[in-house]
Amino acid sequence: MDIHTPLVTSHGTHSQRTASLVEITTSDGVVGWGENVAPSGVQYVGESATQSHASLQMLALLLGGRDVDVFEMFAETWWGVSEKNFAKHALESALWDAHARTENVSLRNALGGVRDSVMPGVVVGLASSVDDTVTEAVSRVAEGYRRVKLKIEPGRDVQVVRAVRTAVGDAVILQVDANAAYTRDDIQHLSRLDEFALQFIEQPLAADDLEGHALLSSRIRTPVCLDESVENCDQLMRAIESAACSVVNVKPSRVGGIGDALRMHNIVATHGLDAWVGGMLETGIGRASCLALASLPGFTLTPDLSASNRYFDRDVTAPFELENGEIRVPNTVGIGVQPLSWVFEHPEVKIETLFQA
Ligand code: MG
Repeated sequence: MDIHTPLVTSHGTHSQRTASLVEITTSDGVVGWGENVAPSGVQYVGESATQSHASLQMLALLLGGRDVDVFEMFAETWWGVSEKNFAKHALESALWDAHARTENVSLRNALGGVRDSVMPGVVVGLASSVDDTVTEAVSRVAEGYRRVKLKIEPGRDVQVVRAVRTAVGDAVILQVDANAAYTRDDIQHLSRLDEFALQFIEQPLAADDLEGHALLSSRIRTPVCLDESVENCDQLMRAIESAACSVVNVKPSRVGGIGDALRMHNIVATHGLDAWVGGMLETGIGRASCLALASLPGFTLTPDLSASNRYFDRDVTAPFELENGEIRVPNTVGIGVQPLSWVFEHPEVKIETLFQA
């Protein structure tokens, strides 16, 4: 999948992805689809796309032929296999789709979702100049997005945010994401972002520096959101107990599955934190299940799930479109979408059978 507008973050540049889709057939013949969204060529958390594909092959052999209850599938219950969260999520989300299809309900309803549509946000990556960032942010707002997240890093922060805030005005919700590019020495500097009325600053410091995030939270008015720091419920509880954040980005792929994302949703709701569902440049398959999750009541902020055409000229499913600044949450059976026929006919698409009963 070519990404027509490459996304630059402090981790690197996303210009292509190898979309890895998973099809699971249950013993009753019901088919479910999932997606492995491990990033290609960029260091985020966990595994690269290549490593994660190998994990997927291994986990599929473990899962194949077993009697499983999707309500009991969590990242730590994969028969002693630790980590490999992207691959676990790919399989588990396909099981959720199959489960909802078996029950003849939408995934949204199977998960307890309450919204018919969500207001998505759009991510504007690092650009070579302030002007380029402003130009992109302004054109995204013109496309209908009402929330913009700017990627920042040392040297490309206060000035960029000021210019974008001036250009888009106060009505647009602005957030920033540093992908762990700062250290505790930058706390004073980061407090300069307070004047721009940001909804939050996401993952400013290293993933393992909860104490640093707690310190930062006590020194700035802008709410601190954690992403890379929170890979499971234990880490989430530690982040809450240490007052490291007031907002959490829950990515089902990063935390190992929809079930884990649901548990984290319940924890943040109980503790009164704000939370939202983060995207990973997924195709329509991964996007559909993320939208179902984002319709849960405890996901109080807008998700990072833009329309298909934000990244791809042609999505693998019917495209998700922005209508009046919102994207509809699929509410037909299962995840509500499936791969289109071109996917199976495309010369570069490889189809592999990982387990056959
Ligand atoms: Mg992030």
